Amino acid sequence: MTEGSTQGLTRGVADQVRPRPALASLPPYAAGRPPTPAEGLTAYKLSSNENPLGPVPAAARAVADVDTLHRYPDPTASTLRSTLAETLGVDAEDIVTGTGSLGALTQIINAFAGVGDDGVPDQVLYAWRSFEAYPIVVRTAGAQDITVPVAADGRHDLEAMAAAITDRTRVVLLCTPNNPTGPALSHQEVEGFLAQVPRDVVVVIDEAYQEFIRLPDAVDTLALYRKHPNVVVLRTFSKAHGLATLRVGYSIAGQEITQHLRKVAVPFGVSAVAEAAAVASLRSSQEIAERVDRLVDERQRVRAALTEAGWDVPDAQGNFIWLPLGDRSADFAHQAGVQALSVRAFQGDGVRASIGEAEANDRFIELCRTYRFGG
Ligand SMILES: *Cc1c(COP(=O)(O)O)cnc(C)c1O
Repeated sequence: MTEGSTQGLTRGVADQVRPRPALASLPPYAAGRPPTPAEGLTAYKLSSNENPLGPVPAAARAVADVDTLHRYPDPTASTLRSTLAETLGVDAEDIVTGTGSLGALTQIINAFAGVGDDGVPDQVLYAWRSFEAYPIVVRTAGAQDITVPVAADGRHDLEAMAAAITDRTRVVLLCTPNNPTGPALSHQEVEGFLAQVPRDVVVVIDEAYQEFIRLPDAVDTLALYRKHPNVVVLRTFSKAHGLATLRVGYSIAGQEITQHLRKVAVPFGVSAVAEAAAVASLRSSQEIAERVDRLVDERQRVRAALTEAGWDVPDAQGNFIWLPLGDRSADFAHQAGVQALSVRAFQGDGVRASIGEAEANDRFIELCRTYRFGG
């Protein structure tokens, strides 16, 4: 028998395709479920932090007006990047677009963390509980995720995070406001943290809900990225702009980082439809601001009502509310389902409910007021 055929036999024993071992450790991404209809009740989805107001009319028109569906999009989304550059006052070269901000995050992880040259995984550090997609992106790259529990009030424990940085840490993810717990980081806090992070560690600040923050001392990430070449800001059109289905997001960083992101970016990751809608939405900044204000007003109304009803709800700076229900989370989600509301339960931890239509919010408040474990 030749060596080749022996190999063939050995390989034949497995008799099926074999994914990389890293895949065995991936948690499934549990997408927010649609609500189940109930007799006499309009069903509402409060499980994916979507914008109940939808896109601005100009963005919807821009989608309808795209007449190049048979052409590949501009690979560098240059119209979108120049519009963003103008709006934000940054250099267009510092913006790298992605298929949602998740696409942009995947570029960052793939460029900076994986299996090291010595075969040992690089480390990516983040708070937990935080965005469900983080472990998937990190582990898929072959890197190891190191998590630091959020404090009881849902805030990042930045001191413990700084202490958890090792020689192997390549990337740190900060999520502000933190999905799903709600609080946002202050500028001073992040400045203090960055001062403790080695210069060769990439710090990603995920600001998916940046527009919803109402804090006087909120982190000014654009100032930070100008000052720190290792800082990357992550933003999206999925939340405030109501364009989740179009999958468009971006990162902002200096050349030291962006040059590498461009190499790993999936070509044509932003469609012409997504680009046109995003540009139109940016040009409707007044309308976007008004819509965000309405949602923030609703958020304050819901949180105040829950606090009044005796709930201990962490500060909420996104378009969602966190109920730290622990082992009662699945029970609560079930009872919400009976009321034709879908919320997101993380059993053992808590329930996240998005701010939705006024009627959905009213029903959610009523549910919280009357909720008893076990019905
Ligand atoms: C919703 C969300 C995103 C946005 O993802 P897209 O891919 O842009 O839709 C990113 N980060 C966090 C923390 C989120 O909650």
